[in-house]
Amino acid sequence: MNVDVPRSVKYRKQSEVLELVWSDGSTSLIAGQELRKYCACSTCRAKKQVGVDVITDVGTVAGMVPMGTSGVQIIFSDGHDRGIYPWSYLRDIANNRAMAAIS
Ligand SMILES: [Zn+2]
Repeated sequence: MNVDVPRSVKYRKQSEVLELVWSDGSTSLIAGQELRKYCACSTCRAKKQVGVDVITDVGTVAGMVPMGTSGVQIIFSDGHDRGIYPWSYLRDIANNRAMAAIS
């Protein structure tokens, strides 16, 4: 599989949007709320399977921990820090394919 690692990853604090620039030059913008909603950690995945809405009021990103070529760990301002987002998954979220990717 071809791993597409973004050229740059930035979180725009003011607009609360994650900006990813891919190797082909295209840009993806993902809102913090959206990232929170699609958190794919085992806890959130289990909640989604039983239909529990994981969205909290605070969907803003408090921090990011780069995981090299595999992806990024996102720490949310509600204290949730278990979400690791592979680059391909972020691309799926940006392209509205995330639901298909986790189900
Ligand atoms: Zn989670």
